[in-house]
Amino acid sequence: MNASNLQMKLTFKNKVISTVSKFNRKHKALSFLGIAYALLAITVYNILFCFYRNAKRHICLACILLFFVFSSSFSYPAMSLNISFATDMSIEDYTVDDSISLSETEVAESNAELAVVNDVDETLIEEARDSVNPDVAEAEHLDPEKQASLSDILESTREDEQNEAELESITTVDVEEKADPVAEYFSQFKDEDDRSFDGSEWNIILVNKQHPIPDDYEFPLGVISGSMKCDERIISPLLDMMRAASSDGISLIICSPYRDLDRQTMLFDTKIDRYMNGGMSYMEAYNLASQAVTVPGSSEHQIGLAIDIISDNYSNLDEGFANTPAGKWLYDNSYKYGFILRYPAGKENITSIEYEPWHFRYVGVDAATIIYENDICLEEFWNTYVK
Ligand SMILES: [Zn+2]
Repeated sequence: MNASNLQMKLTFKNKVISTVSKFNRKHKALSFLGIAYALLAITVYNILFCFYRNAKRHICLACILLFFVFSSSFSYPAMSLNISFATDMSIEDYTVDDSISLSETEVAESNAELAVVNDVDETLIEEARDSVNPDVAEAEHLDPEKQASLSDILESTREDEQNEAELESITTVDVEEKADPVAEYFSQFKDEDDRSFDGSEWNIILVNKQHPIPDDYEFPLGVISGSMKCDERIISPLLDMMRAASSDGISLIICSPYRDLDRQTMLFDTKIDRYMNGGMSYMEAYNLASQAVTVPGSSEHQIGLAIDIISDNYSNLDEGFANTPAGKWLYDNSYKYGFILRYPAGKENITSIEYEPWHFRYVGVDAATIIYENDICLEEFWNTYVK
């Protein structure tokens, strides 16, 4: 403390003491008030004087404190807005409503907010932003062991004695004959409005974030090739489709068909752990992981009705696949075999999933034809045709 500061302090104390002494002399009965005033004034003065003397240090401390308060994840409640626990919605309640889906704008806003969080690893956010297609994060499309072409499937089927009989019946099916039931089906409807489907039919089950797989859902699991499995009822139409593509000079390769709940949960939990290790809270990590990996219980791969398809000369799961001969062939012909492009371009606000030209879902020839001809997605099909 320098001399002038000390002088200021002493002057103030003297002033207070002389004022209080005068007051006490005049009002002896109230002298305790004067003493209390003197103590309070000197204490407050000392505190303020202390702050004044260390002004720079205290301003720095205040700034650091404010920085931590504002950068805390607790000040970002919007981080958890996109988490949907709407598991109690019934199929009948379903309407095509933007508010229940994660629109591109919402994703962008959410990502912008995430980028503000200072203590989170930026590369994790970048990674999540790049992988809003769950298949990209989940598929094993780069692992040759997890792929199967038509010849692989036929070869493995031949090796399997139990599947021999089924192969015989498949190989005798004439692809042209498969088109007849479609014409037959539509000929019975003079008025398009009459067309309706029973929501309990296994092949048109709606599975998405709002409609998770029912707990009691059961299906027959069949082997496509090696460890690759799917609902055995779709193996025959799948092989028909691959055979038809092959006869048109297109070599389709199946990757990532059925995934069980354990694997889906493991993928999801691994993502959450990774984001939490990067500095996020559990809720933030859950929100981001649900954009990159399908929430366990809401993936069509878990019910064996979805198949990711690539071709021998294009193995990337990206939009570029749509422009390959295989992508174009599938777009134009898959419905004839009961498969639909499940996440089409332009329907992202309804499906909540980005355009996936490689992800095909079996719904049966009747439903697939309606979906293809009307250029709608499965959610819209349910809204219009399922009673
Ligand atoms: Zn997929």
